[in-house]
Amino acid sequence: MRRFSQAVWDEPLISELSRPGRVGMSIPSDPKILSRYRDPASLVPESVRRGSVKLPELSELQVLRHFNRLSQMNFSVELGMYPLGSCTMKYNPKVSEMVSASDSMKNAHPLQPGETVQGLLSIFYELEGFLCEVTGMHRFTLSTAAGAQGELAGVLMIRKYHRDHGQDKRDEIIVPDSAHGTNPASAAMAGFKVVKVASDSSGQVRARSVRDVCSEKTAGMMFTVPNTLGLFESEVAEVCQAVHDAGGLMYYDGANMNALLGRARPGDMGFDVVHLNLHKTFATPHGGGGPGAGPVGVTRKLADYLPVPVVVKSKRGYALDYGLKHTIGPLKGFVGNSAVLLRAYVYIRLLGASGLADVSSLAVLAANYLWKSLDPEAFPASHGSGLRRKHETVVSVNSELPGAALTVAKAILDYGMHAPTVYFPLIVHEALMIEPTESEPVEMLDEYAAALNEIYRGLKEGTLGAVPKHASVGKVDEVKASHPLTLRVHW
Ligand SMILES: *Cc1c(COP(=O)(O)O)cnc(C)c1O
Repeated sequence: MRRFSQAVWDEPLISELSRPGRVGMSIPSDPKILSRYRDPASLVPESVRRGSVKLPELSELQVLRHFNRLSQMNFSVELGMYPLGSCTMKYNPKVSEMVSASDSMKNAHPLQPGETVQGLLSIFYELEGFLCEVTGMHRFTLSTAAGAQGELAGVLMIRKYHRDHGQDKRDEIIVPDSAHGTNPASAAMAGFKVVKVASDSSGQVRARSVRDVCSEKTAGMMFTVPNTLGLFESEVAEVCQAVHDAGGLMYYDGANMNALLGRARPGDMGFDVVHLNLHKTFATPHGGGGPGAGPVGVTRKLADYLPVPVVVKSKRGYALDYGLKHTIGPLKGFVGNSAVLLRAYVYIRLLGASGLADVSSLAVLAANYLWKSLDPEAFPASHGSGLRRKHETVVSVNSELPGAALTVAKAILDYGMHAPTVYFPLIVHEALMIEPTESEPVEMLDEYAAALNEIYRGLKEGTLGAVPKHASVGKVDEVKASHPLTLRVHW
């Protein structure tokens, strides 16, 4: 099996490498040449000069090595398998990158008159049509920048819809216990009380349990299908019916849409509001908080509630419309993260309808194949062991050792492969959430499963030792890393 033997860098900060007077470029010293140039400082108005700026001083080679080393300390899907469950770290075709980095795209300015960016607006208009087709929704906003912002937009629309219909008392949103943490957070941010509904022992939400918590206070329910256990919710239609019967609206968390692309549509299941994560399902490099796009689609009755602007088409061409009758207002500047939207458009055009259906088939096949290649004693399925997985599989690490899932996750870094998501969903003991995505070749899936099985043997026999051995950073103090957050200039 492939072993990772990359050099372990412990790269200092660039300011620590700095030595006074060292330079990375040569400036002509001949006074005759110098006299042709003005002192650069004189080009900056005095009122805005800040005195001397302490920039690091290094040679060109030092700068090159510094950044190359930093890149080696990182991991990416272009280096190895990256099955971070729920995050969909699939391969992003280079052609999407090329198009989104084209000059005409890069040089477009959001304040440019609409007449001068008709091409781009027509692409956004067409993209909206594709997303409606994929989800069975009536209209979409493209402006929301992430799944979480899409959720907020969705629940704000639900709130305004009820208020406009004299239903102010509806202040509860139902959220299953398997949901992504952003669901209850978005509902709470929009001022709702979060009512939890438990999944059953097979990992699914039963319509009966939903009916039990529905009342005249129910504003709606946020539902993830397939859920974060990678399971299709077999009572989804009945759940939608239960909430609708109570007068609530159904919100579809579509972050896992790569499992259903071209096969099933939330609109047909009975959902009223849907968000998609273009950076997950429709291929944009993400992670580390990079730009994303979380468009939100709605059925006809909510179309006027979308955040503005939306792209409209008239006889005079394409334009941004800020005048929707019941809009919840703008949530983000202009049309959104346009480079991400463009990548999604290219991805959809590349694959076409049948290609998108192939994506979901392969994502599901890969997840089930990998699951079945794991030692079932070592990694038992937490829920529904008799059910097929969709795009991902969640297993427990069968061990009494505290932090066993974390140890397994750290150990696999030494194989040159990224860890799965750990300790999520919260209802699973020592959880590993593995999402191989559709882009991995079968050999890679074999290697990943073999590595996990080998690590488990080491864990059980006590031969694993301290892990990781070959990563630049071992175990970080996760609490200290985020709290208290101290950001300061180092030098
Ligand atoms: C990723 C994810 C989200 C949040 O999306 P972001 O784009 O990261 O804000 C919500 N729900 C599920 C199930 C997810 O996987």
